[in-house]
Amino acid sequence: MFYFDTINGYRVLKSNLLEEITAFFTTREGFDFTGLDAQRIISPVQTHSDHVEFADERSEYPDTDGLVVKNKGDLIYLRFADCTPLIFYDKKQKIAAVTHAGWRGTAEKIGVKTILKMNSNPEDIVAIVGPAISICCYEVSEDVKDKLLSTVKNQEGLYNGRNVDLKGINARQLAEIGVKTIDICPYCTSCNNDLFFSYRKEKATKERHYAAVLI
Ligand SMILES: [Zn+2]
Repeated sequence: MFYFDTINGYRVLKSNLLEEITAFFTTREGFDFTGLDAQRIISPVQTHSDHVEFADERSEYPDTDGLVVKNKGDLIYLRFADCTPLIFYDKKQKIAAVTHAGWRGTAEKIGVKTILKMNSNPEDIVAIVGPAISICCYEVSEDVKDKLLSTVKNQEGLYNGRNVDLKGINARQLAEIGVKTIDICPYCTSCNNDLFFSYRKEKATKERHYAAVLI
């Protein structure tokens, strides 16, 4: 279940399935990551790729849409406005990841690729599917719809004849490889544009909210 909380005076969204580490989604209020006690703050250059990397001592992560964090004290964050943010935590290995899944990343199953990169047993994974444009608002071309639906065996409920459920497709991909613990955010970034940024609703806004993890 998702709930709003406050960190350092900023309103954030969290899931009650993931309280073991600091994991949250920011809102339109923004966030100052330097206010958290992190030894490193790491964020990649997102390009709608399916490329997943480990966060380490490098300062730059070009073409990276999934980042896995292993070192205690490291904070990672990625940027979003409609695309689906995915946060993963491996309860056994105690490592986490943040992944950017727009339609291209979702079509390439970047969530599944993140779990492969983590070398995790899917049963040890807690997956949090964050705020994104939802089936109420996400109209796509026939071609994109076909690409997205072809990534899952069970397509039930993921297409309503006009719009696709991008969060649901990501969650279904994860469920189909054996992830048992998945929380799906009820918020649509377009309908709830007062809370989150929406690339579509705000006509290609450059503003972003974040998905962040500090382990
Ligand atoms: Zn909506």
